[in-house]
Amino acid sequence: MSYFFDPPARPALPIVGADKLFPVHRVYCIGRNFAAHAREMGHDPGREPPFFFCKQPDNLRADGLFPYPPASQDVHHEIELMVVLGSGGRDIAPAKAASHIFGYGVALDMTRRDLQSMAKKAGRPWDVGKAFDDSAPCSALVRAGEVAEISAAKIWLDVNGERRQSGALDQMIWSIDEQIAQLSQLFELRAGDVILTGTPAGVGPVARGDKLHGGVSGVGEIEVVVT
Ligand code: MN
Repeated sequence: MSYFFDPPARPALPIVGADKLFPVHRVYCIGRNFAAHAREMGHDPGREPPFFFCKQPDNLRADGLFPYPPASQDVHHEIELMVVLGSGGRDIAPAKAASHIFGYGVALDMTRRDLQSMAKKAGRPWDVGKAFDDSAPCSALVRAGEVAEISAAKIWLDVNGERRQSGALDQMIWSIDEQIAQLSQLFELRAGDVILTGTPAGVGPVARGDKLHGGVSGVGEIEVVVT
């Protein structure tokens, strides 16, 4: 059976050194996964079960542009390691999680902080604050086999040449493997799933014209202009 109208193109990400794209299935994000960031958002970081939210697959864009979104006066940057899966399943053990990782990238979990704060106060969903158009600028992907040990990799973000965020992946409250395991108890994970693994402290507002430059050592870098 054909469609009433042409379905939108499947979101897909480029892969360094490959002539094929990574087709995106879902985008999962973890909240407050660095203690110092949890504190700056007014929370007491503990090892409570992690919590997750989603962005839309077509919120990802890898062309270096972030159009300032409507309906907000307080749009924040959150630099994050992006983990992408080449296979999935349910109830994945932490020790098996790494075998499902296809590769890594660097992403920005851009956030309409004012709308997110209003939603938090009202006990409403975060979607308008998190899952808006173009809200996930990202780098090209690097395949897992080309990345050395990254459990303690540095993660950083400069805005207009000034260091704003910096941390290391061993400061994560929940490790990459633990995040995959926890997500797989909530959802059936699939090849094509993307996980944004949390941001270190130092989040803050962006303005049109800002140049964001961030990275994860051993994975890659991202350069984004706010337009
Ligand atoms: Mn985030």
